[in-house]
Amino acid sequence: MARVEFNDVTKVFEDSSGPIVAVEELSLDIPDGEFVVFVGPSGCGKSTTLRMLAGLETITDGEIKLDGTRVNELSPRDRDIAMVFQSYALYPHKTVRQNMAYGLNLSTDLQEEEIDRRVVEAAEMMGIEDLLDKKPGSLSGGQQQRVATGRAIVREPSVFLFDEPLSNLDAQLRKHMRTELARIHTELGITTIYVTHDQEEAMTMADRIVILDNGRLQQVGTPKDVYYRPANAFVADFIGSPSMNFFDVSLDVAGDGTGTLVGDGFEYAVSTELVDTIDAGTGEYILAIRPENLRVDEDAPAEKSFEATVDVVEVIGSDNFLYLDLAGQECRVRTPVEIEPEIGDTVRITFDEADLHLFDRDTEEAVVHGHNRAEEAPQTIEQQV
Ligand code: ATP
Repeated sequence: MARVEFNDVTKVFEDSSGPIVAVEELSLDIPDGEFVVFVGPSGCGKSTTLRMLAGLETITDGEIKLDGTRVNELSPRDRDIAMVFQSYALYPHKTVRQNMAYGLNLSTDLQEEEIDRRVVEAAEMMGIEDLLDKKPGSLSGGQQQRVATGRAIVREPSVFLFDEPLSNLDAQLRKHMRTELARIHTELGITTIYVTHDQEEAMTMADRIVILDNGRLQQVGTPKDVYYRPANAFVADFIGSPSMNFFDVSLDVAGDGTGTLVGDGFEYAVSTELVDTIDAGTGEYILAIRPENLRVDEDAPAEKSFEATVDVVEVIGSDNFLYLDLAGQECRVRTPVEIEPEIGDTVRITFDEADLHLFDRDTEEAVVHGHNRAEEAPQTIEQQV
């Protein structure tokens, strides 16, 4: 087991069209035994980061350490890391047993009995003992995924890397495997880095989530941190489904110190307490609020609510999602099932001041978080890593 450190790691690819910065000055400290999920949109640098750690890609600048030792120059086989890919990469002509044993046969001097003992143990852990003498071609996608994971477990590595391992499975199996992988991590306690573009996977599996965009670190935190205290508008938008509502607003401050957030089609009164936390700001913000924090309430006070027109009502069973038109902007509201307005209805929407987030309009960095206003300022990237 190992601690993993990225210190100012940069990767630049040289392409015919010029240099491509895939990862830029990434610094991250992952303690021994942690389950960390890298998440971000396509092309944000997740796989490149993983491949640099595995030794499959050179590092342009910076340093990667495993348990305090620099590994930049070490070959992949000397890093004691096992990686599971989206494609599974199983040998079609070898049996499951041979596939699982292959890496150990190549890279260690272990006796055959010891190798077989480890293979059987890993197969039991993955629930594939019955498949040991079959070939990959006769297995389902889920079974192949188990074999690929079992092959990684057999190696008893210091670090596990998973690159979108569940992408080829159907939704139900993905959910099931998610729980299985989390169980295996708890059982083995091996430091695990898991890459996905699926924010739900990240939220449900991670001890900490690392959010990347465009090769740059956006935020590192527990699932609750990134959900309740997104460091910037990108994270706020990326995490949560349906995604947060964003409205451009200006802050008007009255003589008594109270304020009003003025947006297109609405005004919302805020307390002196909130104004005091942001009075050094520019006055121009993005107001962000999660769909579940908006409520339909015809009796809400006018200065704390706005009217919008119902465009779409989605019934999902446990809740309803309303898609509203607020002066030409889409506003998403998650409501209890009893609230099912007609298309074209005008509804009054309100929310608690404690649930709103404000982001600086220029930098898109967080200025105010719903649940932690004055006491806890938004974390900077430096504080998180
Ligand atoms: P995805 O989810 O689509 O796999 P990702 O977040 O894993 O995306 P990377 O594959 O790490 O992203 O790619 C990051 C950037 O580096 C992208 O702009 C990609 O086009 C570029 N890139 C990756 N590999 C190479 C390469 N071998 N040569 C040139 N550019 C590359």
